[in-house]
Amino acid sequence: MRACIVAIGSEMLTPFRVDTNSLLITDRLNTIGYDVRLKAVVADDVDELARVLEGALAWADLIVVTGGLGPTEDDITRDAVARVFDMPLDVDERIVERIRDRFARRGMTMPEINRRQAMVPRGATVLANPNGTAPGLWLERDQTALVLLPGPPREMTPMLESVIRERLAPKTGGRGLFRRVLKITGRAESDVDARAQPVYSKWTAQSVPISTTILAVLGQIELHLTAQAASRIEADEALEAAVRELQDALGPAVYSTDGRPLEVVVGDLLRERKLTIAVAESCTGGLLTSRLTDVPGSSEYVERGVVCYSNRAKTELADVPEALIVAHGAVSEPVARAMAEGIRWRSGTNIGIGVTGIAGPGGGTPEKPVGTVAIAVAADEEVRVRTFQFLGGRDMVKFQSAQSALNMTRVMVAKLQSGREWAERR
Ligand code: ATP
Ligand code: MG
Repeated sequence: MRACIVAIGSEMLTPFRVDTNSLLITDRLNTIGYDVRLKAVVADDVDELARVLEGALAWADLIVVTGGLGPTEDDITRDAVARVFDMPLDVDERIVERIRDRFARRGMTMPEINRRQAMVPRGATVLANPNGTAPGLWLERDQTALVLLPGPPREMTPMLESVIRERLAPKTGGRGLFRRVLKITGRAESDVDARAQPVYSKWTAQSVPISTTILAVLGQIELHLTAQAASRIEADEALEAAVRELQDALGPAVYSTDGRPLEVVVGDLLRERKLTIAVAESCTGGLLTSRLTDVPGSSEYVERGVVCYSNRAKTELADVPEALIVAHGAVSEPVARAMAEGIRWRSGTNIGIGVTGIAGPGGGTPEKPVGTVAIAVAADEEVRVRTFQFLGGRDMVKFQSAQSALNMTRVMVAKLQSGREWAERR
C-alpha cells in the first residue's frame, strides 16, 4: 500500500518552520502497513496543491493532506480538492451550527468567515474535530483514499488516530511494520556493522522479514529493526529473537533495546541497586550532571555535581592535591582519578565521577591534543580510569565526554551489588 503525504503551508517553505506532522503520520501509517513513497510541502496556493494532488492520484493508494483547513483566504485545501475531484462545495449547516456552538461556549459570536470551514465537497465524509473548528474530510476515488486533516498538531493527532483505527487499519487487516531500536555506545560504526551485518543479513529472507538500518549519531549508534508482519504478536516474536541475537553479537556495548536513553539506563541501574552518585566535572561544564538530572526522580541517586573548571576549584571542591596537578597536568588520569575519589569521599556517595579534558579549540599540545579527555569512575573497591581522544568541535567533545562517562558508569554499576549490602560490609 503506497501513501503520499502533503503538508500545506507557505510558512513551512521559509527557513523558520518545518513540517513535523508528516513524521507522526508516517509512523502511524507504517504501523498499519502503508509505505510512504512521497512527501511534499506545498505553498498556500490552489493551483500548486491541485497539481500535486493530480500527480499523487495517479499512483497512491492513500493521500494524506494536513493543513489549510482554516477559515481564512489562504486556507485553500478544500477548494483544491473540490477542483481536482470535480465536486461542488456545499455549506453543511450542521457543521456551521457546531462551529457556532464552539464560539458560543467561549462567549463569542462566530465570525461569518468561519462558514468557509463548513464547506464540504459533495460526497465527502466529514471527520469530527473535538479540538478545533475545522472538521477533517475523507474522500475516495477509484483505488485512492484521500484524508484531509487540520494543520495544528493537537487537532491533527486525535483525528489521525481515529481515521487509522476506524477507516485505514481495517483495509490492511492488522498487517504492518513494527520497529525496535538497539542503542550502542563505545564502539565505532564500522565495528558495529562488521559484527552485526552477518547476523541481520539473514533476516530479510525469513517468514517475518526484518530489515535493518544503522544510524550513527554523535557518540552513539542505533540499529533500527523493522519487521513486516501479519500482526503485532507475530512481529514481536520475530523482533525479540532478532534483538537477542544482536545482543549476543555485540555484547555489553548494547545499552538499550527499549528506547531508553543512556542517562535513564544509568539511573535505573543506580536506583535498582540503591546506589548514590556524585560528579566532579571540568571540561563538560555541568553537562554530565545536567544529563543525569534530566531524568525524573534522579534526586533518589544524584547527590551532587560540581563544576571544577580551574585548578583551584579542583583542589577546593574535590580535594585534588595541587602537587598532582603540577606533576601530571590538569588533564591527566591521576587528576581524573583524584577528582572521582575526592568528590565521592566528600559527598559520601557510592560512586564518584571525575572528568577532565581539553574541549578546544585552543589549549591543545602535541602530547595532549584538543579532544583529550580523562575520565574516572570510582566505587568502593574499584576505580576505572581511561583517556579518550575525541574528534570534533567543542560541543562534540563535551557531549562525547559526558556520553563516555555515563557509559563507563553503566558498565561498572551493572556489576556492583546494592548500596545496602555495601554499607553492611564496611
Ligand atoms: P487553522 O484553523 O488553525 O488555520 P489549518 O488546518 O488551516 O488550521 P494551518 O493554517 O495550515 O492549519 O496551520 C495552523 C498551524 O498549525 C500552523 O501555524 C503551524 O503552527 C501548525 N502546522 C500546520 N501544518 C503543520 C505541519 N505540517 N507540521 C507542524 N505544524 C503544522
Ligand atoms: Mg490556517
